[in-house]
Amino acid sequence: MKHYDAIVIGCGGLGSAALYWLSRELGSSVLGIEQFGLGHERGASQDQERAIFQKDTGLVDARKSSGVLVALARARGARVLENAPVSALRPDGEGVEVVTDEQAYHADRVVVASDMWTNEVLRETGFRLPLTVTQEQVTYYATPNLREFAPDRFPVFMWHGRDNFYGFPVYGEVATKLGQHMGGHEVTAETRTFDPDPIRQERYRHFLERHLPGFLGPELRTKTCPYTLPPDHHFVLDTLPDHPQISVVVGAGQAFKFASLIGRILAGLAMDGSSAYPIEPFKITRPAITDRTFEKTFHACGCALPRQHRANATGG
Ligand SMILES: Cc1cc2nc3c(=O)[nH]c(=O)nc-3n(C[C@H](O)[C@H](O)[C@H](O)COP(=O)(O)OP(=O)(O)OC[C@H]3O[C@@H](n4cnc5c(N)ncnc54)[C@H](O)[C@@H]3O)c2cc1C
Repeated sequence: MKHYDAIVIGCGGLGSAALYWLSRELGSSVLGIEQFGLGHERGASQDQERAIFQKDTGLVDARKSSGVLVALARARGARVLENAPVSALRPDGEGVEVVTDEQAYHADRVVVASDMWTNEVLRETGFRLPLTVTQEQVTYYATPNLREFAPDRFPVFMWHGRDNFYGFPVYGEVATKLGQHMGGHEVTAETRTFDPDPIRQERYRHFLERHLPGFLGPELRTKTCPYTLPPDHHFVLDTLPDHPQISVVVGAGQAFKFASLIGRILAGLAMDGSSAYPIEPFKITRPAITDRTFEKTFHACGCALPRQHRANATGG
């Protein structure tokens, strides 16, 4: 069985970042395993942009960022296996056996960055996270008003109302982009589809006609994408309580803008078992994860969607 110091499961934005930071320390003794091809469209990290609200704000190109992180990791010696679904993780003494259809590997440390597939990957560890997956969608409009909606003229915005809409200037496509935060229905990795929901397409158009007509144009495309949410809608960023050699991250539908930092924290957790960053709120043992009545209380007290979370989800 081939041995690695660290194996990362999932090469979306967060796994690629962990792979990169681990490769800086461990070089060729790091392996990334991805169930599909790199850059595939079935996860959460494939679209063109994300943003953060700060004075010198900018857009992060998600698709390119993941590609760059993998390239930099490879340059430091990391190996990446594509089209290799991990079927089991088996804690083994102080290490972990990682099983794929083709081969089994052994690692001292494993990072699980598998987003909506997290519980499947963790199945044999005995730990299960209370995660909800929703199918969200974004629509690109071929606006004729390109200059007005260029990134130097028009900001990323979020509208807080009965529905929460967010929009992006023209970037990546010759088009503006609108989404609805938490507008989607619940799905699983098996039941999610790539078909746009026409009701939401209509809702978006109605919102723009009313508030921002110049943003509209012929619909270029609508893409679906999963949000993977713990009950309190915050990240999970920790090691497993009974198996500290396994670290887990869940991005809660708002993590891409922090991908590099999260990757750095994951590398620290894998190598030192701790982090100098204040990640206490993201512990896997917090009541939102371990107390099965939490979700009910959280929703009952009107906290289903904390205002700050809504803002964070588009970096606002
Ligand atoms: C519509 C939408 C808008 C968003 N907007 C923003 C935003 O504005 N700002 C922001 O910061 N974030 C945003 N997000 C959230 C952000 O996209 C995610 O938090 C982030 O991309 C999650 O990255 P990830 O690597 O954890 O997941 P993914 O990209 O899904 O990667 C997980 C990877 O694990 C692989 N995998 C799973 N199981 C296995 C297995 N058994 N074996 C091997 N590989 C496996 C998968 O194939 C996949 O490649 C948005 C998300 C959506 C859906």
